[in-house]
Amino acid sequence: MSAPGRIPVCLSIAGSDSGGGAGIQADLKAFARCGVHGTTAVTALTAQNTVAVTRVLPIDPDMVVAQIEAVAGDLGIDAVKIGMVGGVPVIEAVAAALDALPAGTPVVLDPVMIAESGGRLLQSEAEQALVALLLPRATVVTPNVPEARVLAGDRHSALDGADLARAVRAAGARNVVVTGGHRETATDVLLTEDGAVLEIPGARHPDGAAHGSGCTHSSALAAHLALGFTLQESARAARAIAADAVRHGLRALGAGPGPVNVLGVGYGDVHAVAGSGRLGAAPQPA
Ligand code: PLP
Repeated sequence: MSAPGRIPVCLSIAGSDSGGGAGIQADLKAFARCGVHGTTAVTALTAQNTVAVTRVLPIDPDMVVAQIEAVAGDLGIDAVKIGMVGGVPVIEAVAAALDALPAGTPVVLDPVMIAESGGRLLQSEAEQALVALLLPRATVVTPNVPEARVLAGDRHSALDGADLARAVRAAGARNVVVTGGHRETATDVLLTEDGAVLEIPGARHPDGAAHGSGCTHSSALAAHLALGFTLQESARAARAIAADAVRHGLRALGAGPGPVNVLGVGYGDVHAVAGSGRLGAAPQPA
């Protein structure tokens, strides 16, 4: 697999966000930012913008598996990121497809349940299947606080931080990062399988363009595992990249929470590059 000059390959098993903020669109940008080659197995199409999810079309589970097999059989997969899976049939198909990958392939599970705008992305009856079939197959799971409470089996729990991470491990996860976006302190908490706790503090950008921050975090984590970094190093990098993507977030786009901007390039920057001659002549106003 590791031919000279071969770039690591990451596979995102996730939904498409037509608004370009989250889902596979966010994952591919995060992979590019991290210097790995991004590939995709699309699980669902969502008609979505910054305000609402207006329609969801699940993809046939056989087609999800066919996408995974097509990538695995030719390009090879150095790490997997799982995002929106939608419902039980896709969860069952993904679990079987993961078992066919080479043993030890890192799998990052972002247990996507609700869109930033509030739309439901995981059917409630699929929560148990996600816990039973995907949690144990993941190297690391990256819930935010509300998702972690669902995984732990008590959505009304007051648990937080390391205690919440331990409850997710008790539900069958190996390693857990409870992400900080919904916490007062914005600190990520990594609990590893040996019971060690690593707190990863970071800046909080509450004025937010955070649509896609969870996707960006889990993809950056998968990319760093594919690049050979340790779980601790990868979790730190993911925290920093996700925070940076929110800081550069596209607040002026849409009426709801704007998309994150993991490539960190703003409109002004593009025109500065154009004006520098690196992209040819800058467009002149009429
Ligand atoms: N995947 C898809 C297809 C989505 O539409 C969303 C949110 O809208 C997510 C994942 C999760 O997004 P976030 O990274 O904001 O948690």
